[in-house]
Amino acid sequence: MIGIGETGLDYYYDKSDRTRQQDSFRRHIQASQQTGLPVIVHTRDAEDDTLALLGEEVGRAAFPGVIHCFTASDDFARKALDLGLYISISGIVTFKNAADLQATAKWLPQDRLLIETDSPFLAPVPHRGKTGEPAFVADTLAYLAELRGEDSDTLAAATSANFYRLFSKAAP
Ligand SMILES: [Zn+2]
Repeated sequence: MIGIGETGLDYYYDKSDRTRQQDSFRRHIQASQQTGLPVIVHTRDAEDDTLALLGEEVGRAAFPGVIHCFTASDDFARKALDLGLYISISGIVTFKNAADLQATAKWLPQDRLLIETDSPFLAPVPHRGKTGEPAFVADTLAYLAELRGEDSDTLAAATSANFYRLFSKAAP
């Protein structure tokens, strides 16, 4: 086991009672605080409650974590970074209608950035509509490097290093 999650709040699907979602999210964070394992945070249509809960828990005890498949606002990104979290970008960033996300992905600090597949979902351009495969992460990387004006090998090395820093139990 190298991490805890994914966990968090989803008010889009709203499949379970919000209080129960918050309670289980908090328990997962507490497990992270106790073990030092990073928490993988899912948040959808729940920015305010996610930030409030994360902030409260960081106030109790610091814990490592990542906002997975980031699609939230610029402001949310800044606050999550302030709480010490990493931000993970999926294939969504390559979509035509993702202008806001692209604007955020441009400035995220390189040492706090991860790239993910969310496989089997969210296949990036030029594979959009197909089953997402881990190999397609290379397309997301290439897109991000271009967007950020960075060398793709440098960005690949940085995001891999970030991953192993955060998920230290996965380190080779
Ligand atoms: Zn998720």
